[in-house]
Amino acid sequence: MAPMTRPLLNRRLAEFGTTIFAEMSALAARTGSINLGQGFPDTDGPEEVREAAVRALRDGRGNQYPPGPGVPELRTAVADHQRQRYGLEYDPDTEVLVTAGATEAIAAALLALVEPGDEVIALEPYYDSYAACVAMAGGTRVPVTLRPHEGAYVLDLDELRAAVTDRTRLILLNTPHNPTGTVLTRAELTAVAELAVERDLLVVTDEVYEHLVFDGAEHVPIATLPGMRDRTVTIGSSGKTFSFTGWKVGWATGTHELVAAVRTAKQYLTYVSAGPFQYAVAEALRLPDAYFDSFRADHQRKRDLLGDGLRAVGFEVYQPQGTYFITADITPFGEKDGYAFCRALPERCGVVAIPNSVFYDDPGTGRSQVRFAFCKKDDVLVEAVGRLRRLVS
Ligand code: PMP
Ligand code: GLN
Repeated sequence: MAPMTRPLLNRRLAEFGTTIFAEMSALAARTGSINLGQGFPDTDGPEEVREAAVRALRDGRGNQYPPGPGVPELRTAVADHQRQRYGLEYDPDTEVLVTAGATEAIAAALLALVEPGDEVIALEPYYDSYAACVAMAGGTRVPVTLRPHEGAYVLDLDELRAAVTDRTRLILLNTPHNPTGTVLTRAELTAVAELAVERDLLVVTDEVYEHLVFDGAEHVPIATLPGMRDRTVTIGSSGKTFSFTGWKVGWATGTHELVAAVRTAKQYLTYVSAGPFQYAVAEALRLPDAYFDSFRADHQRKRDLLGDGLRAVGFEVYQPQGTYFITADITPFGEKDGYAFCRALPERCGVVAIPNSVFYDDPGTGRSQVRFAFCKKDDVLVEAVGRLRRLVS
């Protein structure tokens, strides 16, 4: 065989390796560490939802290709959820699209809406798939960096405004925000909305943590703000809200035109997925408010359990108002390099975390910060904090 002179990975993907989540979960498995890295709960979601999936499988619902846009029961449940919670009206037949997790919705939205050369503004630190999907779409990512201020991460609206150019096509928002736990306020989102209208931008908004907001904070879907319904694709997922991250049932909502565009890309990615699980998620979305309330309260308690523990050990903790992640600074331990710290942590303490530097274009920016997931059993969090005390003993 002739030697291959070209790199195998094309130029668009050349900068991307294995995701940090796979790397760190493999490290956790290899070392038997407590995995506070990749964000997945260690307890499955409600039993009745699991049973609904079993019933669908047994009854032969969804075992063959479901309809391309998703099963009608789920599309209707998503539309009802958006109306009842936020007053957003979407036609389940034309304005809701079921996807293989939020991941596919993000990919399909960017592949459908971004022209090669378009600029996409994303809040940095950003969830890792954003950069890869912008690259696959041939776009250019333009990060706007959330910065620590009084113990939390905040968006600088002037910086956002300054980042918009004539080539900007869309703003890729994420609230509640992974990894910082920032929940954008109504005032901040109103400013983003005004900018989008003024500069004629689309907004793709990743709201997978919509039900994980704490301390009485409000989750505001930007699509509810004036002028935004027509220019916003809103993305949700059952993975985080119902603690079934392996099912990969997500969705996108938006106007008929936007959803049709996203569907055009989506149908050539997976076409369809997760047939029986779609029926189960339709039932999950109709769980009583008590489920969502206790889900939120449980996670607020877990946040405090881990946050207080990390502070007691000596970390500087940025208080998250949402998601199930805590960003903490390792400088108090005389450490500077979060990547090296996370690589060594299993050996030192038997705990795995994620270095935030991977969520930045310039890894120098988040170099001394690491992310811990608190979507774990209380005793696991207590044990993890106990092990982390070895950092100072
Ligand atoms: N967006 C964000 C911000 C996430 O943290 C995740 C991980 N759950 C996803 C999207 C992907 O969601 P899904 O598992 O539904 O593909
Ligand atoms: N969203 C999860 C996190 O941020 C990871 C999902 C994945 O592994 N791609 O930890």
